[in-house]
Amino acid sequence: MSHAFVEVQQAAKRFPGASKNAPPLTVFENVSFQLQKGEFVCIIGHSGCGKSTIMNALAGLDQFSDGSMVMEGKEINGPGLERGVVFQNYSLLPWLTALENVRFGVRARWKAWSERQVTEHSMEYLEMVGLKEVVSRKPSQLSGGMRQRVSIARAFATKPKLLLLDEPFGALDALTRGVIQDELVKIWTHDQQTVFMITHDVDEAILLADRIFLMTNGPEARIAEAVEIDLPRPRNRAEIIKHPNF
Ligand code: ADP
Ligand code: MG
Repeated sequence: MSHAFVEVQQAAKRFPGASKNAPPLTVFENVSFQLQKGEFVCIIGHSGCGKSTIMNALAGLDQFSDGSMVMEGKEINGPGLERGVVFQNYSLLPWLTALENVRFGVRARWKAWSERQVTEHSMEYLEMVGLKEVVSRKPSQLSGGMRQRVSIARAFATKPKLLLLDEPFGALDALTRGVIQDELVKIWTHDQQTVFMITHDVDEAILLADRIFLMTNGPEARIAEAVEIDLPRPRNRAEIIKHPNF
């Protein structure tokens, strides 16, 4: 019996071949890893190696072809309020204001709360990402960085036990990214939730993660594995990009 908070074992993902006689496409197999409660894990790896596929499976939005996925002893099967997701493209509801976007999830999460409690709690999270002044704007009236802050506030405000972030800063300029990275650390320090974040930015992984997984196209042609890179701090970027599997 494992004591890990999340345990993925022998996961594989295959897609049917493009035509009738074409062989199936194996994106990865034998992917196993654990997440401990409260840790911040970044997963890095080349484009197309299957990072989003793994995250979507953890979110309950997709399924592995093989393998098991357990959170606190229970098989993950479909989406749930105990898991929050942040995507690169923000996925905000365009007809709602920033505050309403956050309130929406908070209201669903704590049904007994008064409207005032829902607003106060939502505002607390919007303030943590520096958005106090713009909460009544709709997404179209916000910059990309602000939209992603709303999306982060929305995901954290419902206090999910596991936060899943898929390249959340991928569309942002370096300056904005730095500011929001700091805010993400602040909000994570506040609640100590478990975070699993995909990034293609090695420096971001070095900055944020307790542990870094490298998803790699290993020696078996295009079949990837998740390799943990064990690096003490301060970390050295060169050690990661010189990794034989990178
Ligand atoms: P990453 O997030 O690491 O860039 P993804 O998880 O998005 O990679 O995709 C992994 C691989 O699966 C890619 O090579 C992609 O082309 C392939 N893939 C994703 N969805 C499908 C699908 N519906 N049919 C066939 N191949 C797919
Ligand atoms: Mg991806």
